[in-house]
Formats: sequence, C-alpha cells, structure tokens
Amino acid sequence: MDRRYCSILLRCIGITGLIGLVSACQPPVSGEAVGIQYPMVYMQLSQQELPLQLGIPVEGVTARQIQDTWGAARSEGRTHQGVDIFAKRGTPVLSSTVGIVSQIGTNNLGGKVVWVLGPNLSRHYYAHLDNYAENIAEGDWVDVGEVIGYVGNTGNAQSTPPHLHYGIYLSGQGAVNPYPYLKFTQTSKSTDIHNSNDFSES
Ligand SMILES: [Zn+2]
Repeated sequence: MDRRYCSILLRCIGITGLIGLVSACQPPVSGEAVGIQYPMVYMQLSQQELPLQLGIPVEGVTARQIQDTWGAARSEGRTHQGVDIFAKRGTPVLSSTVGIVSQIGTNNLGGKVVWVLGPNLSRHYYAHLDNYAENIAEGDWVDVGEVIGYVGNTGNAQSTPPHLHYGIYLSGQGAVNPYPYLKFTQTSKSTDIHNSNDFSES
C-alpha cells in the first residue's frame, strides 16, 4: 500500500475515532438514533429514578381532564392496565419520559403501538395510535414531550372514540397505575416539568 495513502488513512481513522469519542459524551438528541451510545445511555437510564411527575402524553390535555381508569373491568376477565386519555383523532402523542424508543409495531389489543424504555428501565406503552410520528424510529432517543405518534382507535378500540391507552411497566414489578404520575402535572412541556419543584395540589 502506498505509504502516503496509509498515513492519510490512519489520520482519518484517528479523527473519526476522536469525533466518535466526543459525540459519545454529548447527551443524545431527541428524535435521533442513539446508535453507538446505546450501552452508555442504557446504563444511565438504568441508574435514573422514574420521576414522580411525568409529562402528559397527549398534546393539549391537562391533568384534570384525565380520569383514573386503572383496574376497570375489560373483556375476557381482564382489568385495565393503564389510563385512557381521550382526544381528537390525530392529536400528537408525546413521550411522558426521556428514553429510548424500544419498539414501534402492532398487536391485537393495542393496534399501532410505541414502547419507550425510560428511567430505571421502566417501559412506557402508547397504544391505539392512528399512526406513528413520521420521524421516529426504534433506537431513537426521545426527550419528554417528543411527538411519537397520533391519537387514534386502532386495535380493540375500534368501537371506542379515539384515545391514547398509556401504560407504565416498572422493571421487576410489572404494570402500575399511571394516573398518580400524571395527576399533578400541569403541562406536557419537559422544561416546566423539570423546573417544577414547587408543585402544590390545586
Ligand atoms: Zn386503555
């Protein structure tokens, strides 16, 4: 191999490696692939606590519009393992936490669904979507408030008005009631949630 070419090649690898190293230290960008940062981001997520207040996962909906429908009877002896948040079809569905989009797909009950892996490896389930957000892919990082889909009534909600079924599954514990995580939230904007240490029940 030509010697000069060789040294140029080595220099390129060096610079690329450096860029990789520097970018691995940057926080991931919402809506962009986690990529090679995945192991580090996963470890960071596993060490974070799930905040007691999460973002409201439907745009324009306030906490007081959400009803606690956890545990309500469902078909075939099932109980409701989430909350239903009603909104007009096509209303943006927002990530309630930071995290990694772990699955975009379909299932019989949920229809079009998105899963987000969040703090303390909690899993967040967004179901009955009319559609997924155009620019979201599995492996993307999302901030609180990132659009991940749109409200619909796919799956077993076809005879129901459009709504988001939102579920939280804690690592090692399974499904928990999302309602307490939402009821004091005043806005779905992440900056407001992060700065909201002075919340009072009103
Ligand atoms: Zn539901």
